[in-house]
Amino acid sequence: MSSPREVPAEEKALPYGRQSIDEEDIRAVVDVLRSDWLTTGPNVEHFEQAVATKVKAAHGVAVCNGTAALHAAYHTAGVGPGDEVIVPTMTFAATANAAVYQGATPVFSDCDADTLLIDIESVKERITKNTKAIVGVDFAGQPCDWKALRDLAQDHDLVTVCDGAHALGAVDADGTPIGAAADLTTFSFHPVKHITTGEGGMIVTDDDGMADRMRTFRNHGLTSDHRERESTGQMVYDMPDVGYNLRLSDIHAALGTSQLRHLDEWVERRNTIADLYSGRLDERQAEPLEVRRGVRHAYHLFIVRVDDRDQVLQALRAEGIGANIHYKPVHMHSYYQKSAKAECPNAEAAFKRILSLPMFPAMTDQDVDRVVAAL
Ligand SMILES: *Cc1c(COP(=O)(O)O)cnc(C)c1O
Repeated sequence: MSSPREVPAEEKALPYGRQSIDEEDIRAVVDVLRSDWLTTGPNVEHFEQAVATKVKAAHGVAVCNGTAALHAAYHTAGVGPGDEVIVPTMTFAATANAAVYQGATPVFSDCDADTLLIDIESVKERITKNTKAIVGVDFAGQPCDWKALRDLAQDHDLVTVCDGAHALGAVDADGTPIGAAADLTTFSFHPVKHITTGEGGMIVTDDDGMADRMRTFRNHGLTSDHRERESTGQMVYDMPDVGYNLRLSDIHAALGTSQLRHLDEWVERRNTIADLYSGRLDERQAEPLEVRRGVRHAYHLFIVRVDDRDQVLQALRAEGIGANIHYKPVHMHSYYQKSAKAECPNAEAAFKRILSLPMFPAMTDQDVDRVVAAL
């Protein structure tokens, strides 16, 4: 019998992002399967504390994905029918969709042309008497100007929410870790993000009341969960508000805690890969996004701007390089075209030229060379 042909490294498809899983991760999951608790239990609590400590927040509330984290954050921020939530249009759709879940209207803000981060002037213009919250997205892993967003929110008595799905491990220019820069910060643990639980998410906050309300919201609106009732023997519970089942399981949480061991090393590697790209790319052909002075970038994505983007994308894909587009501005999706008329010229112009190159910690220096050569 002939053995299967070894695929040479240069022919293997290179995705734009992927997870790294080691034997210790596998053991952590198997240990939970042998234990008494599979759903929200001691491992969830441990994971919540580990993430909150890492990002210097008082509380972590784990949920089943990053979108659920946004939903719970908007709910606890008091976002409801008739309210407006200012969101950047240069983001993943979930940032806006979660406002719709709460019966509110997402109001789309434009981005800065060079960083693609939310434009502070654009936010200012969109504040009305109905505005409830300002949402910043640390796009591609780069912190927004949180000081400016907090000052603006304070002047108008608004809640700040950070969609930090790209930015676990990032630090703002004033030294504030992402997780402590807004009233509420959400993370996603999808496999392309910095650490993974398969599916999973978390909200971190310093506010005791907001954290309590999110724990209730993720568990149908009930004031106690199954584990608390088992431990106290108090079987009667109340439902003061209606909630959802957004719980994360102990199986997922154990994987998350195990993954968190590598966060610093992985963010470091992502920065090294970004430096390699920047050093080797010809800026006239592929121009990286600008980086704000003094920030710690978490490089969820490495984005360049190119002419003839669609042609370049197809050519890279033909060579097995999983380049991608992040994102089509959310206000341009047909669902939002029906209602919100947003003016976001910078985002629309950027959309024609942006290209995400492969970026994940297990990429080798040779992989970077291969992408640069193909470009
Ligand atoms: C990934 C992501 C989300 C959603 O996270 P899920 O875990 O996939 O639900 C939300 N916002 C942004 C900016 C993301 O990149």
